[in-house]
Amino acid sequence: MISKTKALEMVDTIDTMFPDAECELKHKNPFELTIAVLLSAQCTDNTVNKVTHDLFQKYHTPEDYLSVELPELENDIRSIGLYRNKAKNIQKLSRSLLDQFNGEVPHTHKELESLAGVGRKTANVVMSVAFGEPALAVDTHVERVSKRLGICRWKDNVNEVERRLTSIIPRERWTKSHHQLIFFGRYHCLARKPKCDVCPLFDDCREGQKRYRASLRASGGSE
Ligand code: SF4
Repeated sequence: MISKTKALEMVDTIDTMFPDAECELKHKNPFELTIAVLLSAQCTDNTVNKVTHDLFQKYHTPEDYLSVELPELENDIRSIGLYRNKAKNIQKLSRSLLDQFNGEVPHTHKELESLAGVGRKTANVVMSVAFGEPALAVDTHVERVSKRLGICRWKDNVNEVERRLTSIIPRERWTKSHHQLIFFGRYHCLARKPKCDVCPLFDDCREGQKRYRASLRASGGSE
């Protein structure tokens, strides 16, 4: 792993690349955000936004989601991966909100993670985006870029990645850095075709160097 100082320099560079990064899931309140994040598991934000455009016009409250039979809700979100499971979780979550939290989205990690379909990542996003609490959610982009850059080890799980990042990045920057790392992974260090040839971090990036050497070998060139 690289040093914390070097890692923070990298995060600073990413900060300059995506100064305006923010949550791309469309929502108007904490409840809509919770539903959107729940739907976003293994699915792009674009796809979620297309579905929630209509979904949030039809359903406004936990009661609304419980007022329909499960197959109807499944049908409303069927273009999203794992829609059957997600529909079930939305109804369970709605039930819990009404029974335990007065119909409101709770404000603590523990309470959020007690809801169906809400894991640590979702709880972190809701805490930071909806309630302004510093949190650094680790999604697939954050995990991939942190590992490619050597900020974390490849074998680290998401909790270890979160611990490492939050030990490096100042607390007041956690939320912003979360969005910036996502943007960096979504628009620059893409899963299949990272833009190593125009990357300001190339000189310090082991993954970029490895890919470069592999491309040289593939083209018959020398290192
Ligand atoms: Fe990603 Fe390539 Fe940049 Fe490394 S050099 S961070 S792999 S785009």
